[in-house]
Parts: sequence; structure tokens; C-alpha cells
Amino acid sequence: MIEDKNPQRTPLGSLGEFGLINHLTQSFKITQNTTVKGIGDDAAIIKANDGNHIVVTTDLLVEGVHFDLSYMPLKHLGYKAVMVNLSDVYAMNAEATQITVSIAVSNRFPLEALEELYAGIETAAEIYNVDLIGGDTTSSTTGLLISVTAIGTAKPELIVKRDGAKPNDLLVVTGDLGGAYLGLQVLEREKQVYKVNPNSQPDLEQYNYIIERQLKPEARKDIVKLLADLDVKPTAMIDISDGLSSEIIHLCKQSKVGCDIYENKIPLDPQVISTSEEFNMDSTTIALNGGEDYELLMTISQSDFPKIKGNPNLTVIGYIKEYYAGMHLITRAEESIPITAQGWNSISD
Ligand code: ADP
Ligand code: MG
Repeated sequence: MIEDKNPQRTPLGSLGEFGLINHLTQSFKITQNTTVKGIGDDAAIIKANDGNHIVVTTDLLVEGVHFDLSYMPLKHLGYKAVMVNLSDVYAMNAEATQITVSIAVSNRFPLEALEELYAGIETAAEIYNVDLIGGDTTSSTTGLLISVTAIGTAKPELIVKRDGAKPNDLLVVTGDLGGAYLGLQVLEREKQVYKVNPNSQPDLEQYNYIIERQLKPEARKDIVKLLADLDVKPTAMIDISDGLSSEIIHLCKQSKVGCDIYENKIPLDPQVISTSEEFNMDSTTIALNGGEDYELLMTISQSDFPKIKGNPNLTVIGYIKEYYAGMHLITRAEESIPITAQGWNSISD
């Protein structure tokens, strides 16, 4: 047994997820000249011998924390575990090429369950054209754990990090926001109904879009291609895994800039609007703080605006300001409210 020489017991919740990562890793030094970017972006960047850059990213999903198997089919879980990682590769404006998959399983799971999980992984690998090249398999005393690592590649001049946003750049998001979080609320509600009445046959047709956003998200590979076709290289980019406000804060902090975003510009699907009304929730709050949409948030130079204007995949929601201006949401009532992070934070939750 390792003797605990430090009698202090600091609760992890007091640091938060990013405080904890920073605390644990701040003393590490980069010594390899092939390490272009270590901790702090959507993916790490490594210089390859052929002059290209390789990007690497990893995520761990834990049963009971990140997914609930009572409404998450294993096939969808396998698919989603791959998407979560590919999304971080595309956020670097890179092409995803390989994945590794590691699992820890308890004997509660029969072979057929793991076949389902891997069917989802295989579908994702086929559609997104990545090779499964390895992983690890071990046992777990509690639930299921699944960890995916994704590898990608890009020419060095095409890589987009979080730290390149400049004052006057436009803030742009892909797709629409808040759906995945609301889909989860609907699924949670149905789970409670089912507990009380197992014979209930839920009619979820009116929630089909938001439930699909939660159970079967798609990483925005198409956006990397679209940006290349439009000849637009964003000045900064990040994927929206934890909610818009938390990602805006990461991007602005790393770029040392401020921003204004406009409430009335945030793209929302009609199902997000109707379902948030039904749940008595504010749709803007959900778009800002709900997680798991896996859209991309980017900044682009004003001079590129004519190239993206009118494109249905890209919505301008605001613009970048000087650092000292801070980060604000301009509401429909034209009030300016500071943006704070209440994003998904599995450590302090
Ligand atoms: P993302 O939300 O894009 O997946 P995270 O918020 O998980 O990124 O992580 C932020 C950064 O911290 C990334 O560069 C990630 O690789 C790094 N990181 C996260 N956890 C650890 C850890 N336990 N040890 C070292 N680096 C970590
Ligand atoms: Mg990310």
C-alpha cells in the first residue's frame, strides 16, 4: 500500500474539471520537437516525418455518468463514442483516419450486447472512413466503460486551433443547438413514466429530431469539406460538446479576445423551441448550457464573409472584440449579459 504522506483532502469539485486538469499537468514539460501542441486544444498536434501534422484526441465514456443503457441502445452508444472523438478531429480542420477502442465490461453483459456495441462502432467507422486499429479489453466490477482515441491528419497550414481569433472576426456556428440536451430530457421523462407504468407505449414522434440528436449525433466531417470547398480557413475552431457558452469561453480565453453574441441569432430547431416551452425552460439557456450537440464553433475573418453568406450550414451569431471588452450575450431586449460557463461538468456534477 502507498502511504499517504499528504493529510490534506481537497475535494475535486472545488477545482472543476479544467482546474483539475491544469493542476495535475502544469508541471509537465514538452521535450520532443515533434510535439507541436500538447494539452489545451480539441486534439494534440504531432509533426510527422512527411511534413504533415497528425492530430490525436481521446475521450472516456462511463455508464451512469455519460450514458444510461435503459434508453441508450448499445449500437447507438458505439456509434456515439466514435462521433465524440471524430468531432474533436474535425474541430482541428483535420481528416480523421484511425481509431482505437478500449472497453471495460462486467459479466452483466453477454456477448450479444458487445456485438451490438461493435456493430455501432463498425457503422461509424465505415461511414466516416476511419480504420479501427487497436484498443484494449478488460473487466469492470461495476458498469461499462468505453474509451476511444481518434487520429487524424492535415497539412500544417490547414490546422485550426482555438487560439487564433482576432477582434472583428465573425463568430459562426454550424447546425442548430440545444437539441441533444432536450432529447435527453424527453428520454429521462419517459424512463420515469415507464417505471410507474411499464405497459405505457410512448409516442415520441414529435420529439424524433431531438431524440436523434441525443442518441445518434453526427460529427461534422462535412463542414471540413465545405470550408475547403469555400476556400475558408477559420481563424479558430472548437467543437461544441459542453454547450455554447463554455466553448465560447475556451475559444476567447485561448485567443485572448472578448466577444458579443446575439441571442436572436442562435440557431434553434422548431422542436427545440416547442419542447423547451413544454418543459418550461428557456431555449437560449438550453443552447448556451446544454451539451452534446457536436456542432462546430469557429471564427472567420470579415473578409471571408461573402464566401459563407447565405450558407444554410453556417450561422453568424456574433463577433470577436478586444479582450478588455469581455464576453457578452446581447439579449432580444438588447441587454448585455456576461457569458458564464455552466457547461456539462461531470466532475462537479
Ligand atoms: P474536449 O472537450 O475537447 O474533449 P477536454 O475538455 O476533455 O477536451 O480536455 C481539455 C484538454 O485537456 C485536452 O487537451 C485534453 O487532452 C487534456 N486532458 C484532459 N484530461 C487529461 C488528463 N487526465 N491528463 C492529461 N491531459 C488531459
Ligand atoms: Mg472538443
